[in-house]
Amino acid sequence: MADCIFCMIANHEIPTDVVYEDDKIICFHDAEPQAPVHVLVIPKRHIESLDDVTEDDQELLGYIMFKIHEIAADLGLENGYRVVSNNGEDAFQTVKHLHFHILGKRKMTWPPG
Ligand code: IMP
Repeated sequence: MADCIFCMIANHEIPTDVVYEDDKIICFHDAEPQAPVHVLVIPKRHIESLDDVTEDDQELLGYIMFKIHEIAADLGLENGYRVVSNNGEDAFQTVKHLHFHILGKRKMTWPPG
């Protein structure tokens, strides 16, 4: 999608601190980290949010979750980490391209704000 910042990142149109990439997903450091480790995992294909996935996306979603566990291990998050996906207005999704935050290397609190 032309004016989507995460599509631009996926297409290498803007400089990004890439952690992992393959043909389906890209993982990069969040521009405003909320923890000592804070990266985002996104599908390269534009999907606005979990509300927009279809049956055809089931394999991709499972793949993202599998890769999150590998990326977390590569980032040394053996003591635990949080995976967050904000979807829609009430969840305060600010970038309308499906993404999963991985946050780690600090103690998290619950409930989230
Ligand atoms: P959301 O609030 O769940 O939609 O998260 C969007 C995240 O994207 C925020 O944590 C932002 O800091 C991050 N972000 C926005 N633009 C960029 C960018 O250009 N590079 C890296 N992270 C970004």
